[in-house]
Amino acid sequence: MQKLPLRIAFILSLSILGAWIGGIIWLSIFPENPPRDLTDNDGKISIVSTIYPWAWAASNLDPLAEITTIVGPGLEPHDFSPTIDDVKNIHDAELLIVNGGVDAWISNSALERNFPTIDVLTMLQYPESDPHVWLDPVMMMKIVEEIGHQLEQIDPTRSQIIYDNVQKKLAILENLDREYREGLANCAIPEIVSAHDAFSFLSKRYNFTVHGIAGFSPEDEPSPAKLVELTDLIRSHRITTVFFEELTSPALAKTLSDETGAKSDVLDAIESLSSEESERLEYPGIMEKNLVKLKTAMVCTP
Ligand SMILES: [Zn+2]
Repeated sequence: MQKLPLRIAFILSLSILGAWIGGIIWLSIFPENPPRDLTDNDGKISIVSTIYPWAWAASNLDPLAEITTIVGPGLEPHDFSPTIDDVKNIHDAELLIVNGGVDAWISNSALERNFPTIDVLTMLQYPESDPHVWLDPVMMMKIVEEIGHQLEQIDPTRSQIIYDNVQKKLAILENLDREYREGLANCAIPEIVSAHDAFSFLSKRYNFTVHGIAGFSPEDEPSPAKLVELTDLIRSHRITTVFFEELTSPALAKTLSDETGAKSDVLDAIESLSSEESERLEYPGIMEKNLVKLKTAMVCTP
C-alpha cells in the first residue's frame, strides 16, 4: 500500500475530526427526538379539540395546557366548515382530539401531523357509527383517561398532577353515571322521541328507547311514512314527550306533538355550548338537566 504523504494525512485527519465535532454540535442543536420547547406557546401544551365535549374532557387535567375548541358556542358540528386558521390550529396542535364522525370535515392534510391525535370513535372501536358517544358518561371516562395518558407522555414531569386531575374528573363522571342509573331505574314509559337521533349511546347505557325523527345528522329529513309511523307509535306507547334541540329546528317535533298531544321539550345533545346557561353548567350540569327532563318524560320514580 502506498503511503500518504504526511501533510495530506494530517489534513485528512483534521477534516475527519472536524466533521466528527461538527456532527456532535449538530446533534446537540437538532437532536433526533427534540424535547418539548418550553419557550414555545409560553410553555403551554396546545390541545385542540374539534368539538366541545372533548374540550371539556381535556379541561383542568394539565394546568399548563391551553385548549382550543374548533366548533365554538352556538355552532352545530355536523355541517361545520373550518376556516384556514382552524385547519392550521388542527395541524399544529401538540395534542389533537377528534371525534372521527361528526367532524368528518377535517381534511386529510390537516391530519398529517408530527404530534399525537386521539380519534375517539376509532379508539373506542366504533368507527363510522353514531358519533354521539360523549352522551354516555362511562364512555366519557375512557376518553378522559386516554387524554390524561397522552398528556403524561407529552410532559412526563407533570404526570403526577395530571394523574390527580384525571382522578378528580373520573369522580365527577362516576357520580353522573350513578345519578343516571338511579334516576332512570324505574320508569313507567321508558321511551322518548327525539328530533335528532343523538341519544342512542345514552339510551343503551341506561336501558330506555329513543325513536329518532331524523337520522344521526340533524339535516336528515324523515319520510312522510316515517312520520305516520312515529305518530302511531307515540299514541300506542303513550310516549309523553317529543324532544328537539336548541341547535336544530323544532318544526318536526312540534308537528308530531301537535298531532299526538305529546309535549315537546328541549334535550341538549351537548354538541356545543348553545346558551349562556349551558356555558355556566358545562358538560356535567347539562347532563344533570337532561336527566331531570328524561325522568319527567319517562315517568320515573325513585
Ligand atoms: Zn349530532
